[in-house]
Amino acid sequence: MTLPHHYREILKGLGEDPEREGLLDTPKRAAKAMQYLCHGYEQSLEDIVNGALFTSDNDEMVILKDIELYSLCEHHLLPFIGKAHVAYIPTGKVLGLSKLARIVDMYARRLQIQENLTRQIADAIQDVTQAAGVAVVIEAQHMCMMMRGVEKQNSTMNTSVMLGAFRESNTTRMEFLQLIGRSK
Ligand SMILES: [Zn+2]
Repeated sequence: MTLPHHYREILKGLGEDPEREGLLDTPKRAAKAMQYLCHGYEQSLEDIVNGALFTSDNDEMVILKDIELYSLCEHHLLPFIGKAHVAYIPTGKVLGLSKLARIVDMYARRLQIQENLTRQIADAIQDVTQAAGVAVVIEAQHMCMMMRGVEKQNSTMNTSVMLGAFRESNTTRMEFLQLIGRSK
């Protein structure tokens, strides 16, 4: 059975009439939207990096902050939305900056929990760059918290994964947190 068929069943399950004018094309549209929101399943790390790894003797921290992040929680299929900040310390190879954002996007465009998303992004960057350290911080608001259940409208969830130098060195970690504006 196709995705539009299942959306039609969901409408019926909600007590709606899928034949009424406003809903006629909804199953098709909803299926298309959902497929777009999950298009990360069709991507791989190899496709995304696609040779954009360059030799460099830069061994200073590379940071990309405020990467817009849109994902879906795997528990409720509701969006969580926020920002990712990523950094790594190269050891001879640097990655095009847009590729960092695309790695974030590839994992975000799958069904996720924020903790795993953060970890997957960090591991992928580590894998690809063989960096001396990788840091990923995600701050996001979860619609499953805001629109239902406890209805905590203003709570932001923060997750971080620190690898290598970011884990071992306080100074390095503090520098990163300061640069993304998160140090106290
Ligand atoms: Zn949820």
